[in-house]
Formats: sequence, C-alpha cells, structure tokens
Amino acid sequence: MLEVRGLQVSYGAVRALEAVSLTAAPGGITAILGANGAGKSSLLRAISGVAPVAGGQILLDGRDITTLPAAARAKLGLAHAMEGRRLFRQLTVEDNLKLAWSFGARATPLPAAIAEIYGRFPILEQKARTMAGLLSGGQQQMVILSCTTIRSPRYLLLDEPSLGLAPIIVQQIYGFITEYAQRSGITVVIAEQMATLALRVSRHGFVLRRGRLVLEGDSRTLLEGGGESGALAASY
Ligand code: ATP
Repeated sequence: MLEVRGLQVSYGAVRALEAVSLTAAPGGITAILGANGAGKSSLLRAISGVAPVAGGQILLDGRDITTLPAAARAKLGLAHAMEGRRLFRQLTVEDNLKLAWSFGARATPLPAAIAEIYGRFPILEQKARTMAGLLSGGQQQMVILSCTTIRSPRYLLLDEPSLGLAPIIVQQIYGFITEYAQRSGITVVIAEQMATLALRVSRHGFVLRRGRLVLEGDSRTLLEGGGESGALAASY
C-alpha cells in the first residue's frame, strides 16, 4: 500500500504541497486531479524521491521511505513516468527498452519482455532501430510507458500520460494503462488534468488545488457528480 501523510513540498519559498494525506488502494488505479500548477507533479515527484519534502511522511507497505534516495525507492519497486517524455533521445527505441529492463526486476526474460511490448505497440517494433528522439509525441509516450512497465514495478506513477497527444493516441495509451493495471494487479497512480479521462479508468480520485487536497471520492461518484462540472469543476 502507498500512503502519504501530511506531505509538504517546498521549492525555496514556493510551497507546492500543503499537508496532503492520501492512500492509493493496492491493486488498482488512483487518479490525482487538478489544474495546471495544483501540485500533482510535486506529489508524484515527492513519492519517487525527486522533489524536496519539507514535512510529512511517505509510506510504502507500511515502511517509512520519506528519506530514502530515489534509487532505493526504485529498488523497492516504485517506477515513475515523469511529465515531459523523458527518454534517451539519442538511443534507439529498442536500446531504451533494454536499458530500462536492465534497471528493473527482470521478472520476464528480455526477449519475451520486448516481444510483449511489440505485441502491444506494433509501431514500436517498426521503429525499433529509430532514435527515440525522432519519434512522434504519441510514440514517445508509448516508449516511456513501455520502459516503466518493462521494469516490472510494484507501484507505477504516471504523470499526465495524455499531455499534448491526439485523442486517438490518448485512447490507445489509456487502453494500455487500464489493461496493464488489470493484468499485472499492481498499484497505479495517474496524475492528470483531464479529469474525466482519469476518472473513467480509476477507482478513486483525489483533487488538488493550489497544493491542498480539496475533494476526494469514488471515481464513479466524482464522475456522476458532473465530471468537468459540478463539485469537481468547483474544486479546480
Ligand atoms: P502541471 O500540470 O503544470 O505539472 P502540477 O499540478 O503538476 O502542474 P506542480 O508542477 O507540482 O503542479 O507545481 C506546483 C507548484 O509548484 C506550482 O506553483 C509550480 O510553479 C511550483 N513548482 C513546481 N516545480 C518547481 C520548481 N522546481 N521550482 C519552483 N517552483 C516549482
């Protein structure tokens, strides 16, 4: 179980998160919603160990990991696909996948792990020898997702997987995330500005506004509460 208690994140004088407490239910998708600058990325970055925590606790399976370095958290099975499509742009698609696999749990042998990804995203097989930096935005997002899942994480943090992508690609990416979460049974946390998108695939949603938690609930209830309108919109 992934739990955050009274978490505060500060960048110098800028307070990005103010006493945020939440739990990501095991084996399901949790959505973190909020407008631009609400603190979604800061929350995920604090959990994975790359944002400055000014107070509070982060617990992974009951263990306090608040002061553990990012690499040690990765070893515990935490994988974070950050906003902004971070991949090795000068390496080929396949080399990105191989490298990611080598850093992971190696639960599946490399050829089988790569074949599985190519089965899911055939375009990546066609582009296997292309430099990742030359791919379209959607293809890069597929590589990023593949690189995080090929590590066989136990916890997956996804920051705005829909950002800047065409609707058809967003559908594909979300289809993959949903299917992967079901198949693997791991805990997934998605930070997303597009509330309805993330609520449709998640069990539970938390809404941040200016660094504070302002609304939470069962995803279906939040959606029925008006999706982009109603309580959800009011809290943005
Ligand atoms: P976005 O969708 O734009 O990523 P977000 O909800 O993820 O938004 P954060 O990126 O966590 O929000 O930002 C929360 C606040 O912290 C914002 O006011 C932002 O300007 C500030 N912030 C984020 N990163 C830094 C940083 N490295 N230095 C200073 N301030 C920062």
